[in-house]
Amino acid sequence: MKGLYIHIPFCVKKCEYCDFVSFSGMEREHDGYIDALISEMSEYRGAAIDTIFIGGGTPSVLAPYRISRLCAAVAANFKIADGCEWTMEANPGTLTREKLKAMLNGGINRLSIGVQSFNDTELRAAGRIHDAKTAYDTVLLAAGCGFNNISIDLMASLPYQTDDSFRTSLNRAVSLPIKHISVYSLIVEDGTPIKEKYDRGIYNAPDEDNDRRLYHYTAAFLKECGLLRYEISNYAIPGCESRHNMKYWDCDEYIGVGIAAASYIDGARYSNTDSFSQYMSGNYRSGEREILTEDDKTGEFMMLGLRKTAGVSEAEFKRRFGCDISDKYGGLLGKFIGLGVMEYDGGFYRLTERGLDVANSVMCEFV
Ligand code: SF4
Repeated sequence: MKGLYIHIPFCVKKCEYCDFVSFSGMEREHDGYIDALISEMSEYRGAAIDTIFIGGGTPSVLAPYRISRLCAAVAANFKIADGCEWTMEANPGTLTREKLKAMLNGGINRLSIGVQSFNDTELRAAGRIHDAKTAYDTVLLAAGCGFNNISIDLMASLPYQTDDSFRTSLNRAVSLPIKHISVYSLIVEDGTPIKEKYDRGIYNAPDEDNDRRLYHYTAAFLKECGLLRYEISNYAIPGCESRHNMKYWDCDEYIGVGIAAASYIDGARYSNTDSFSQYMSGNYRSGEREILTEDDKTGEFMMLGLRKTAGVSEAEFKRRFGCDISDKYGGLLGKFIGLGVMEYDGGFYRLTERGLDVANSVMCEFV
């Protein structure tokens, strides 16, 4: 079965580091945008799905009745499998009891809350709309309303962050009723306000060695707390891994609806337009579909599969592509095993601890 991704491109205010397709101050467009989403969803009517992820942007900016309308439209257009994992992203500054009830009533059973830090100085520098207490209280509110599958996001290498403040954020996180945590390092993207501040010397340049140290600390600390790393930046209580995101790393099929959403169906990739006006006019796609060659498919299977700590299954490779992984990539695999950045064990090729530190350069060689 496929996954379904729905993009909600609205935020209360742009964060300093954000280069996602999201817009602030467009509440008057919310109803029209949901109309457009419903219209695009109807093109997939009857498709069977077993994971849904409503991301953004900030989906939780939507008013309760709009959340209900969106959920009803998903249920009307798709065959939702029993036990479907249905996630919505939320920003602590935007959640209310009424919205949480609308989500639960609509079928949403997993919440991914963008906390980023439990330090107010760091949150202000990142341009977040909430403070640490609001973030903490929001997770408790969501749990109190009935969400028993909550994930939070934290960021490493934020301006003003110290080892101590990062450790405090991790400690606060694990004191909450969460089952999953994603820890991303700040990426200073061109064109963002934070980039300008780094360029002007207002913040010290991120230190890569320090970032790696925090990464190792995070994995060890969370493991002690029962949250095991299963992907480069993701940790979960066993059994609570994000099934939707696993579809991306497993190269399974997904349908993406909404502005700038991507789909992968029948070996082809489709991208939606990132122009709001084009999307609203019903012209959803940005261009031709990209049909992946066999080399593209095997390369992506390796590149994305190596993100998982379980690694790439030799048997699954053969099942999907009809050839042995060693025939296709024996040279590269041998080289990386020799360098100590990859290992083979129990039918899986995976990155070693050392390999995780240089993951991007290893993965790139497969595509
Ligand atoms: S809430 Fe998320 S999508 Fe919105 S501006 Fe901040 S980082 Fe970007």
